[in-house]
Amino acid sequence: MARLIDGKAIAAEVDAAVAAATMVLRSEHETQPTLAVVLVGDDPASQVYVRNKVRRTEAAGMISRELRLPATTSQADLEATVAALSADPDVDGILVQLPLPAPLDADAVIARIDPAKDVDGLTEVSAGRLVLGRPGLRPCTPEGCVILAKRTLGALRGAHVVVIGRSILVGKPAGLLFLAEDCTVTLAHSRTRDLPALARSADILVPAVGRPEMVRGDWVRDGATVIDVGINRVPDPARGDGATRLVGDVAFDEAAAVAGAITPVPGGVGPMTIACLLRNTLKAAVARRGLPEALAAI
Ligand code: NDP
Repeated sequence: MARLIDGKAIAAEVDAAVAAATMVLRSEHETQPTLAVVLVGDDPASQVYVRNKVRRTEAAGMISRELRLPATTSQADLEATVAALSADPDVDGILVQLPLPAPLDADAVIARIDPAKDVDGLTEVSAGRLVLGRPGLRPCTPEGCVILAKRTLGALRGAHVVVIGRSILVGKPAGLLFLAEDCTVTLAHSRTRDLPALARSADILVPAVGRPEMVRGDWVRDGATVIDVGINRVPDPARGDGATRLVGDVAFDEAAAVAGAITPVPGGVGPMTIACLLRNTLKAAVARRGLPEALAAI
């Protein structure tokens, strides 16, 4: 039976390290990192994410600025809001909660984020730095996957990582981040041939698809590490009454019977995303304010 990778506990450790570093910034450098979160419209899932982000930012001793805009906000107004945050010297990190309501153009909004404050790692500059292997702010969810894999396995050098999914948000940056750890990376997607056989060749399997329980037990090699990024809401027949529950992209019980280690959903990759957001905000604050890099080395 696989070892459970406790994302909640590991995220709490990262949060605590960020809080300790923030305390040092406040007491010795008169600096309190500030994260600005922009939420447009009233999508219920986004509201929950933003509430969690605000709570954990404040718990880490950072300042949280929340900008809530109506779904009717114009493209020009939204871009002006983000540009103003980019120009504001007190703001260290900017996060625009995605998806934006139609017909807003997220790419044009992201382009207005100062790359020095791009704590979601979504600007072209951040993506370019990642590809070039230069220091920069990395996308949070894939960074969380790498941290979980390292905590589970130690050094990742030489491991074969199969990432299923090639999105800008998760799959592609996950592939590049594992490559930077000297892994051999395969990026699979909807056109990949014989995905189960390919998945079985993975030492580390990272499904990031958005299809409930697509990865079955016989897709997993004996002893492999499974990092399940998927978050899918499905009906919960056990509870009835239209109740739902969250499942990953992996059929957990089947995979756990063969894997060496596996993340649960919820409680795996999910909590790491916000932990990495706080870590990026700390890094951005230290870099922007010209403080020693070691202050953000967590
Ligand atoms: P996207 O929809 O942007 O990308 C999904 C990817 O999966 C695409 O590259 C697609 O391939 C691939 N895919 C779709 N169907 C198949 C298939 N049958 N076989 C193989 N590959 C397939 O999703 P995201 O990357 O944004 O998110 C993926 C999942 O991760 C979702 O469940 C999302 O909720 C979750 N997520 C979790 C986060 C967390 O904090 N834990 C954060 C962000 C996302 P193609 O490119 O060929 O279409």
